[in-house]
Amino acid sequence: MIEIESWPLFGAPAGTTFTSVALPCSRVAHDLLSDPQVMANLANLEWWVGYDPAHPLPAPSTTMGLKADGQAIFGSGIDLGMPVFDLTARLAEAVQDHLTGYEFIQWPACARHHRIMLPGVYESEAWWTCKGPGLHRVRIGEFAVNEP
Ligand SMILES: [Zn+2]
Repeated sequence: MIEIESWPLFGAPAGTTFTSVALPCSRVAHDLLSDPQVMANLANLEWWVGYDPAHPLPAPSTTMGLKADGQAIFGSGIDLGMPVFDLTARLAEAVQDHLTGYEFIQWPACARHHRIMLPGVYESEAWWTCKGPGLHRVRIGEFAVNEP
């Protein structure tokens, strides 16, 4: 993997190339911070964008993911040109896939039902949805320890 740029979990990309992802990153970062297990298991989180010259992704996807303690822990193909709500949900999904599959952390978990909430888009906004009982949603970026 070749890294193009990285920035702190609560920072923003320095250049203008990746400004589209700054708001989605800050929303997902907020929800990561709300989970003590995530913050305990993964230190010094950063966002990174890059590519694998041996296996280039088809346009318009870009490889993006998280680093912990200076090492990439995952990278997923994401179209950074999507509308902000789609990009937010896609980024949340990529982070969730990593945490579920490799860190064995159920993030984010509904405090009421103790089950994982799923990222998606509804009425042009990015949401976490708990299928209940009683379907309910929290905006991605507004998750709190005591939600819902
Ligand atoms: Zn729930």
